[in-house]
Amino acid sequence: MAANDRKFIVFIGPPGSGKGTQAQIIKERLGLPHVATGDLFRYNLKNQTELGLLAKKYMDAGELVPDEVTIRMVAERLMREDCARGALLDGFPRNLKQAVALDEILAPYGGVTVAPLFEVDDEVVVERISGRRICRKCGAVYHVKFNPPKHEGVCDICGGELYQRDDDRPETVKTRLFVYYKQTAPIIGYYFCRGILVDINAMQPVEDVTRDLMATLKKRGLSD
Ligand code: ADP
Ligand code: ADP
Ligand code: ZN
Repeated sequence: MAANDRKFIVFIGPPGSGKGTQAQIIKERLGLPHVATGDLFRYNLKNQTELGLLAKKYMDAGELVPDEVTIRMVAERLMREDCARGALLDGFPRNLKQAVALDEILAPYGGVTVAPLFEVDDEVVVERISGRRICRKCGAVYHVKFNPPKHEGVCDICGGELYQRDDDRPETVKTRLFVYYKQTAPIIGYYFCRGILVDINAMQPVEDVTRDLMATLKKRGLSD
């Protein structure tokens, strides 16, 4: 396969807009790995690595982890074998500096292919985040009301225990939304100017968002 046949999809949207949920659903259909910086940090934290311990301070405060370490982590992740056909990026880039760095990393492979923007009202984001539960073992994402597990507190997939992320508590959510508008929103214009931004109505039920997303990707030749 030619290097520029690689497909890099960048999901943009506020915390809780459903990026991770959709990535988990469509990754198999597209045959691309789900690269989520938040998950990479949480994995490092669970394993008590230096990177995990450094990231924790920022994550707990709802602030961005410094660009230098974040960019290095993503660059390494994208060089792994499973990204040979591209990747679904979720949670990166989160500011203009990271967007420019991603362009440099992907320059040999034709750059970012498409950037779906998950549009959701702030009230909905807060409701989604406050009910979000994650599996401690496999990272699957649930919602107490919108996507409950079959048995309360237990993962349908692996039987692991579900927990609420520390940074999903109301005090931190406010900061994260603020950080999104201030630091992340500028990348919307960055991708819009290149004609690769597509709006997705992410207020709909999960299945409808998936349908719109797949239709958009199909139009751009990313899916059959
Ligand atoms: P959500 O999707 O709910 O916003 P994430 O799991 O993507 O949450 O991110 C959780 C936290 O991890 C962020 O609040 C931030 O501290 C850190 N983080 C994730 N991605 C990045 C990034 N690209 N740059 C800096 N920090 C990041
Ligand atoms: P993000 O990755 O953008 O931070 P998530 O995919 O983790 O967002 O979704 C946030 C919460 O909202 C989760 O609890 C998830 O189960 C729920 N959720 C995701 N998409 C929808 C949807 N379309 N409708 C209702 N709830 C949703
Ligand atoms: Zn699980």
